[in-house]
Formats: sequence, C-alpha cells, structure tokens
Amino acid sequence: MREYSAFALLKNALTGNTGWKEAWRKPELKASYDVIIVGGGGHGLSTAYYLAKEHGVRNIAVVEKGWIGSGNIGRNTTMIRSNYLHPQNQHFYEHSLTLWENLSQELNFNVMFSQRGVMNLAVGPAQLDDFARRGNAMRLAGIDAELLSREQVAKVIPGMDVSASARFPIYGGLMQWRGGTARHDAVAWGYARAADRLGVDIIENAEVTGFLKDGDTITGVVTKRGEIRAKKTAVVVAGSTGQVMKLAGIDRLPIESHVLQAFVTEAVKPFIHTVAAFGGGHLYFTQSDKGSLVFGGDIDGYNTWAQRGNLPVVEDVMSEFVALFPGLARVRLLRSWGGLMDMSMDGSPIIAKGPLPGMYLNTGWCYGGFKAVPASGWTFAWTIAKDEPHAFNRHFTLDRFRRGLIIDEKGQGSTPRLH
Ligand SMILES: Cc1cc2nc3c(=O)[nH]c(=O)nc-3n(C[C@H](O)[C@H](O)[C@H](O)COP(=O)(O)OP(=O)(O)OC[C@H]3O[C@@H](n4cnc5c(N)ncnc54)[C@H](O)[C@@H]3O)c2cc1C
Repeated sequence: MREYSAFALLKNALTGNTGWKEAWRKPELKASYDVIIVGGGGHGLSTAYYLAKEHGVRNIAVVEKGWIGSGNIGRNTTMIRSNYLHPQNQHFYEHSLTLWENLSQELNFNVMFSQRGVMNLAVGPAQLDDFARRGNAMRLAGIDAELLSREQVAKVIPGMDVSASARFPIYGGLMQWRGGTARHDAVAWGYARAADRLGVDIIENAEVTGFLKDGDTITGVVTKRGEIRAKKTAVVVAGSTGQVMKLAGIDRLPIESHVLQAFVTEAVKPFIHTVAAFGGGHLYFTQSDKGSLVFGGDIDGYNTWAQRGNLPVVEDVMSEFVALFPGLARVRLLRSWGGLMDMSMDGSPIIAKGPLPGMYLNTGWCYGGFKAVPASGWTFAWTIAKDEPHAFNRHFTLDRFRRGLIIDEKGQGSTPRLH
C-alpha cells in the first residue's frame, strides 16, 4: 500500500490519526557513506532522491546545518517556468517542468503544483518584440509560449491598470500556460520523505565546519555531530556556497551572496489567475490559494549572509506593485522575509564535478532555483553517479567563466542585481 492513499487517509481518520509514520527518520551519523550531500535544501534533497532512485546509490548522507526547509526552499515565492531564450537553459528548465508535472505522483506527496500560467508583461513595443523573439525561440525548442495582446492580458488579471494612461502602459505579454506554482515546503518534505524511504540518511543540525582531505582530494566532512568519510562529497548549499567552499580552501568563485525578500498581503478575493512578472521594473506576483498576494522584486543590492532585508527595497517593490494595481494601495502587508541567494556572474547555474578531486558543486541559482529543483537534482545525481555531466547540464561548468563561455540569458553581463 502506498503510505498516502485515500484508503490510508480513511483508516487513519477512523483511528485517531495515530498510525502515520514519521516522514523521515532521525538516524545517527555513520562513519562513512558512498556519497555525502552537504545542504538539505531543495537541490540537496532532490539530488539524494534521484541518486537513490535512478542510480541505485543508497548509502547517502544529507547533512543539513539547520532543519529541512529552513533555507530558501522554504522562503521562495514558488514560481515555476521554462520560458528561457538560450538552448543551454531551455532544455534544462523544460526537463524540470516535465518532472514537476508528475512530481506529486512520483513522490506520493501532494506538492500542490498548479499550472496557472506564467506571464511576462511587456511595457512598450520594444519589450513586446523582445518577448516575441523569446516566445519564438521557445516554440522552436518545443516549449509552449503564446504572445497575448493587452486585452487578453486584462482578462487574465482583471484589476490591473492596463490603460494607456497607466504609469507604465502594458502592451501585451508572453504567456507560458504550463508554468505556475507549487507549495515550497511540500517539495522539501516530499523529496526528504521519498529519499528516506530509499535508505538515504537525512541528518539535521549537522553543520559542516570543515572538509577532510588527502592532499587536494576531498575525503569527507567534519560536522558539528562528528566526522564522516566518503569517496564523493557534493556541496549544494545555495547562498552559503562561498562560506562552505572556503572551508575546503576555495576562496574565489564566480558567486556573490545577496538577500532577496518576499512579501505576502492579507487575503483578498481571487482576481489574479496566473503568475506574472512586470517588465517595467522588477516585480513578480501571484495570488495564493488562501487569497494572499505573494510578490517580490530585486535583491537588496549588497553582499550579505543575513536572511533579512531592508526598507529601501520594500518601498521600491511596493511602489511598483501599486503602480500596476492602484486599487490595492490600502491592502495590508502581513509578512515579509529574506533568503540568501547564490547569484552567479552570468545568471546561470553551476552543476559540475570539482573543483577539487572527490568534490561536486551545485550553485548559482540566482532568483530562479526553486523551479530548477527537480532537474537540478536529476542532473547533479547523474553527474555524481557517472562522473560526467548529462546533456542537460553539460554547459553549466565552473570553468566557463575562465574560458569565456558564459550563458548570459539576460544579456546583462556580470551584474548579479540584474539576473
Ligand atoms: C524570497 C525568495 C524568493 C524566491 N522566489 C523564487 C521563485 O519564485 N522561483 C524560483 O524558481 N526560485 C525562487 N527563489 C530561489 C530559490 O528559492 C533558490 O534558488 C533555491 O531554493 C536554492 O536552492 P536550495 O533549495 O537547495 O537552497 P536552500 O534551501 O537554501 O538549501 C541550502 C541548504 O544548505 C544548508 N547549509 C548552509 N551551510 C551549511 C553547512 N555549513 N553545512 C550544512 N548545511 C549547510 C542551509 O541550511 C540550507 O538548508 C527565491 C528565493 C528567495 C529567497
């Protein structure tokens, strides 16, 4: 019997809900594993799951500094899409979206994936041309895309100011109907539970404080709960990449850590039926199933490891939101929080073997690592198991920055704020 089925729900409802098993075990550290995964965020957990499921590697430890869900996997605004221009990104993110489409069934855990569409709002004819180009590139790659007129946009988001006299007049939008949202905690819990059932040890409160080395080769980690050895050690710590890699002696990486904030308002009646990103500034928003407006904008713009932001960006994001929705100016903001972002210098990720022997690195997710969680884990697991990249991640190397082979999706250069 699958643990989470209609039958199990009925049985537990009738027996006081005392029969549920814990979602994942609390195992003690073993002295050695085949693979150590440093970081129990979305990417670390999905890597462990696909390593166990697709490659039969079951002797795995995921060592997490805090608790499962404490990092960005539980802090993001949950937007999922594969609307990229460059082929290096297109096929990777489309693979991710395909995995999302079956994830609840695969994990036997409802991740509440909702394909409500993701729309990029064009402010001005030049931006609409640019979106048309991107939409055409997507369709040539077999990815769904539709260019919407201003009237069509207004139907999807009634209440948004699309008039010609708006502060930033909307000219249309690029829609990917298969994009959408999912419940972020459920994604962490679902992968953790599924990996645990395949034998993966998930060790919480086990911050990695050092690496074990034999010459240059990484042979394990030192954690706050003891030492562990392994032939393969994967570092997947998102915004903490700089700090953790420094412990291994690597202190120059094309990554900057920044804080990104998210905002949630009180609940209002449903009127935003999609996810949208505003091309006039930097604003993305949706409406949660409970009715809250969920939105975010730019990173705070200074390097930090603090998981909280400052008021100037709050003011900036609010002003963009009110420019689009003047009628919402008096809706109350209930909550805001910050997460630590691993901003790469071209806006694209790194999923590669190295940079030291025995080590594997996954980082550089910028604003968009949540949607990548399934494909990132899937391709990283492949890379760790086979010691070579899959076609989907072969361009996401660390040395592309040295070799000048950057994947500058937005054409903005090495400016993290603009990715
Ligand atoms: C406010 C906000 C909004 C976002 N919105 C979106 C969005 O709408 N769509 C989208 O696609 N992406 C979005 N993102 C980005 C996305 O959340 C991240 O790119 C992604 O979650 C990062 O990967 P992760 O889940 O593995 O990170 P994390 O969950 O941060 O995992 C890294 C883990 O490493 C652990 N760690 C750190 N140091 C150590 C150590 N020394 N030892 C052991 N463990 C350690 C941390 O505790 C953490 O749990 C957003 C991010 C933020 C902050």
